[in-house]
Amino acid sequence: MGNPEPRRGADHNVMREVNRSLVLAVVKEGGRVSRASIARATTLAKPTVSAIVDELIADGLVREVGTGTTATSGGRPPIMLEYNASSQLVLGVHIGARRTTVAVADGSGAESARRQFDTPSGPAGDSLTVIAEKARAVLPAGAELAAVGAVLPGLTDFHRGVCLLAPNLGWRDVPVAELLTAELDAPVHVHNAGQAAAVAENLEGVGGRVDDLALLYAGTGLSAGVLSGGRVLHGTGGTAGEIGHCRVPGGTEPCKCGNVGCLETVASGPALVRFARRAIEGGAHSVLDDLFEATDVAAAARGGDAVAAGAVAEVGRNLGLAASWVVNAYNPAVLVFGGGLAAIADLLLPHMTETSTEFTLGPAGTEIRVSALGPDAEVRGAVLLALQQSETYYRVVFRA
Ligand SMILES: [Zn+2]
Repeated sequence: MGNPEPRRGADHNVMREVNRSLVLAVVKEGGRVSRASIARATTLAKPTVSAIVDELIADGLVREVGTGTTATSGGRPPIMLEYNASSQLVLGVHIGARRTTVAVADGSGAESARRQFDTPSGPAGDSLTVIAEKARAVLPAGAELAAVGAVLPGLTDFHRGVCLLAPNLGWRDVPVAELLTAELDAPVHVHNAGQAAAVAENLEGVGGRVDDLALLYAGTGLSAGVLSGGRVLHGTGGTAGEIGHCRVPGGTEPCKCGNVGCLETVASGPALVRFARRAIEGGAHSVLDDLFEATDVAAAARGGDAVAAGAVAEVGRNLGLAASWVVNAYNPAVLVFGGGLAAIADLLLPHMTETSTEFTLGPAGTEIRVSALGPDAEVRGAVLLALQQSETYYRVVFRA
């Protein structure tokens, strides 16, 4: 990805917006700063900084908060500035296979309201209308949203704002950003659950704010949310990190994507159930009866059931294989184990770590950590991505 460097003779208004974004970024990240320190950090001329700060104060984005200490050379103590987090409002929407969560947050990411409800069934357009209605109900009256982060359980194309495929919702090629923008009158940015969880774990969970992080998102399906330079790696069609649909040699199980033998058919919650069922059908004795889910397999494994323990070990080893693919492909500093299966990380991790260590390149140096945010990761990611996306332009320029 190239950085959009301002061209010579670039439109004056564009430069103005860029400079404004630069100044706002310094104020946001710096805590309390003076005009002089903004000028130093941005290398903008002091009069330019002063004019922009006046504008940001008038718009309510920045406020003056008393005076700082005088420089050793003497002179007047500088007036200090800080970001007014309450000036911006973002909405995070996590649409899960069963439950949907909406959260309203300010410019610092602090939530003022959150609501959870059953994911509406029916056609995608109708579902999104209901979700938008419920989101509007938690917004303060007359509120204007700076951005919306929408997180989905499936393949997404961030660039077009489209849900490519979400088998659990029955969605295919749904223009989520377009539909929600029409409902909520704000820019909507669409990500998958793994990407959202990766951002949330990095900023608020076990990630530790590293530049390069990957999150193995394992539950009903399997994907990886990959961060490069602290930002989500999307790829050209938006499907970077969809390792769940890499074919495992010898795989025979049909996948929801239409292919056969995808990695997620052997490294997911449904795989846990299928491996246990296969052993029982083969004549093995187990406490598991005819109808059981992944959570039942985990409980039986804890109770010492050999069939369940075998299924856990097999899925754990396959997740270890998945982890090694992600680490070899992206070489992250931290690999987070997230998604629904992370709830039984204590059972899976020993098998996972053993296999991933075996197949990971020696010098990778990646540390595997288990999600700290649990079921909060996706909605926090939705909020944080809304904030990040509303800042994208200056971020890119700032890092150039
Ligand atoms: Zn597949």
